[in-house]
Order: sequence, then C-alpha cells, then structure tokens
Amino acid sequence: MKVLVINCGSSSLKYQVIDSDTEQVLAKGLCERIGIDGRLVYQKAGGEKEITDAAMPTHKEAIGMVLDALQNPKTGVIADLSEIDAVGHRVVHGGEKFSGSALVDDAMIQAVEECSGLAPLHNPANLIGINVCRELMPNVPMVGCFDTAFHQTMPEKAYLYAIPVEYYEKYQIRKYGFHGTSHSFVSKEMASFLGMDLNNCKEIICHLGNGASISAVVNGKCVDTSMGLTPLAGLAMGTRSGDLDPSIVEFLGDKLGVDAKEVTNILNKKSGVFGLSRGLSSDFRDLGEAAEAGNHDAEVALEVFKYRVATTIGAYAAAMNGVDAIAFTAGIGENDAATRAGIISYLGYLGIELCEERNKVRGENVKISTDDSKVAVCVIPTNEELAICRDTVAVISANK
Ligand code: ADP
Repeated sequence: MKVLVINCGSSSLKYQVIDSDTEQVLAKGLCERIGIDGRLVYQKAGGEKEITDAAMPTHKEAIGMVLDALQNPKTGVIADLSEIDAVGHRVVHGGEKFSGSALVDDAMIQAVEECSGLAPLHNPANLIGINVCRELMPNVPMVGCFDTAFHQTMPEKAYLYAIPVEYYEKYQIRKYGFHGTSHSFVSKEMASFLGMDLNNCKEIICHLGNGASISAVVNGKCVDTSMGLTPLAGLAMGTRSGDLDPSIVEFLGDKLGVDAKEVTNILNKKSGVFGLSRGLSSDFRDLGEAAEAGNHDAEVALEVFKYRVATTIGAYAAAMNGVDAIAFTAGIGENDAATRAGIISYLGYLGIELCEERNKVRGENVKISTDDSKVAVCVIPTNEELAICRDTVAVISANK
C-alpha cells in the first residue's frame, strides 16, 4: 500500500509517502508559513530537495500543492491520486477516548473536537488536515494516530493528580502523556533488536528532543510517563521548565505583575536549558560547545537536564521494580553521546556500564552498554512517520 502520512500543525504541515510493503519513503517534505506567505519543500527518494515559494492562504492550498507535487510527471511518485491507498494523520490529543489509532469517520472527528480543549494549539490544526484530506480524497480511507494513545494503559495511581478528584471527573484533569507514537515504536523496536520478548520485559524509553519525555513500559504497555495534562510537565527541556513547585506560578506572577497565562508562557518558551543558560540556546550542540569553552551557565543547564533524566529513570526503575533495557531516542537521545554518557554516569547503582566505543555510533540501532552491564542501554532511532504508516495499515486491515 502507498500511505500518505500527514502531520498538520497550525502554520506548517509535514508529509511522507511510504510504501508499506517495503517501508521505503517514496517522497517527503513540508509546507511552511501556511496563512502567511507559503513555502513547499518536496524531496523524492534519492532526489534533490525542491523548494517552491507559493501562496498558501490555508491548509487546503497547502495539501493541494503537496498532492500536485506527488503527481508531477517528472519528479512525482504517483501517476494520480487513486494510487494513494490510505492517509495516516497524526493527532496530538485523544483524551481518554482513544487508546489506539482509529479509522477517521464523523464520530471520530467529533471525539477529537471534544478533546480540543486539552490541546487548543494542536487538535484544531490536526482536524483541519483531516477535513481537507477528506474533501480532496473522499474515497481514501484515513486513520488518526494519537500522541496520547499509548499512555492510556497507565494505572490510576500513575495518572491521577493528588487534587480533589471531582476536577478529574468534571474537567478531565489527569496525566495523559505525549510522544506516544515514538514511545510505542521504540519500545517494540528495542525488544526486537535485543531479542527480548516484548510481552515479558521492563523498558524505559527516553525520548529526548526539543520536547522530552520518558516512559516506563512493562510487557509492551505504558505504566507511567513524565509529561502530564500538557507537554510542559516532567523533564527540563529545550525551552520548557518541566516539573516545578506549582506555587511558583502565583509567586512569579506577583513578582512580575503578570497573570498565570503569562507565567505559563514563560515556563513553556523561556525556560528549560534555554532559560538556565541565560538565553544562550535551547540547542544541545550550542550548549555542548559553550560548556567545552568554559561557559558555566551552559554546563549547569546541561547538568540539570542530565540529572532530571537520571532521576526519572530511577523513579521508573522503582515503579517497575526493575528494568531490563533503557532506550535513548530523538534528536538528543540519538545524536548526543556526551549527554548520554553523562546520564548513564548517574546509573551505576543499577549495574549499568557504558561502552564508550559503542556510544560513539549515531543514527542506527546500537547497544551502548557493555555485554556485562546488568541493564542493556540502547540508542534506537525513532520513526514516528513509519509508526503512523504501520498503524494506518493495521487499522484499515482490521476494519475491512
Ligand atoms: P523536536 O522534534 O522535539 O523538535 P528533535 O527530536 O528533532 O526535536 O530534537 C532536536 C534537538 O536535538 C535539537 O534542539 C538539539 O538540541 C538536539 N540535537 C540534534 N542533533 C544533535 C547533535 N548532533 N548533537 C547534540 N544535540 C543534537
């Protein structure tokens, strides 16, 4: 099957066409600045990146341009739209309604709309992508894949906040977790890479990108994760604070004379390693270089990040009463050997030993712990688009 994977943001849209039989990417790219001016980036497998600046007042024109590029007689990958067998859409928030990927139909769209209050920036954009694709390709089956779905197996003790329970019942305030597509993909991939039985193992998945989250996975099912009602919770991230004393919101708001909304904005956009490094950078490459050159703030920012990852791993080893394997994935997890080594240096008590030679490898599945290490530690590149493609095919086959 040829599957079009769409990840629709408020002013951007990423896409890939994947042949689900070979799992090869046939073409990929993105639309940027939708509603502002508009730019299409298109790349056929093995070809050059093509950049076209063209007006894209709405997502409809953007998706139309993507479909045209895919059918271009010279550089396209399909002769006409009938060759697209299915579309898989990323959807950020599925609330408690979706514990897995689901076929797009009117009821599903309504359920996603009802979850929009929990992800006001993301779900409406995801829905626009779904609705435009339905309009342009009315006969093509579509599947929604939710960032929150994988975490729906968490037990109450993990997802309930210790606040009056009626707020959970009335307003659905609870831990949901995000990056679920990645956590699910990497947990399966690591079990298979290490030859472990997915149904009989304890894994900790560290998705460390600009946004970062960790999950505890027992027998392939998530039992805890570090993000919460929103992606602001948990680890210190590129620009997000992660967990802090909730009283800080009122305290800082009073000091600055701003409301809770503005403080939350500071916690989302000006905090994390960016804030700790006095705005030097949120990018770990810049911070690593600055720390090497003796910049104390950069060094501290990186150490806070590593410490929080290590203490969360410790918490999840406790939650699962042990751990067989730990995965590092996403931009930092896959590429930043020094940060991985720093995190692992906290974990000697688990019997973990790092192999420095193996830790130099990038961009492929690799075990970076020694063969004597009591817990296997791996780098497992994530591939959310492939995960969406696989889910799309599975859901469509199950509904045939
Ligand atoms: P997101 O999808 O959340 O935007 P990514 O998973 O793409 O994030 O990760 C982006 C981050 O990965 C960058 O901000 C940077 O900190 C880090 N990163 C990428 N490549 C490297 C590298 N070679 N060395 C260190 N850090 C890297």
